Amino acid sequence: MGGLTWKIRKIGDGVTHVALSGVITEAARLDQISNLAGNVIVDFAEVTQINSLGVRVLLGWLDALEGRAKLEAERCSPVIVMQLNMLPGLARRFSVRSFLAPMECETCSEDRETLVELEPGSRDVQIPVTRCNTCGEPMTLAEPEDRYLAFLTDE
Ligand SMILES: [Zn+2]
Repeated sequence: MGGLTWKIRKIGDGVTHVALSGVITEAARLDQISNLAGNVIVDFAEVTQINSLGVRVLLGWLDALEGRAKLEAERCSPVIVMQLNMLPGLARRFSVRSFLAPMECETCSEDRETLVELEPGSRDVQIPVTRCNTCGEPMTLAEPEDRYLAFLTDE
């Protein structure tokens, strides 16, 4: 397993964008970026794996930021969505703006992820129609919908 890297950039007045990339394990040095403040948007799109010790590291980082930063998560990758579903405590630490849904074509073996944006304060989720690149048919969510979207109703 590789490590975790990040890119931090200011995207506006008091808004910091943190793009995490790689795998989150006990070796992830998120403590190095626990001094962020203001509005912090964490982009999880490139997080490909997280183990149970990594979850603890992630929670510790979010705890360190709590109080100094207002946290939002965007483009949560499927492994992060799984953690959000298993750990309501994680979902409570930030508001989720968008996530990636694993889609599959029932005819072909094609699969890819599609971005799902969430309306602030709304629990209505619309997974955008995603067409298969091979046959053009609408793709379906590769996970049971009630399970994959459970974190949205657990608040
Ligand atoms: Zn297809």
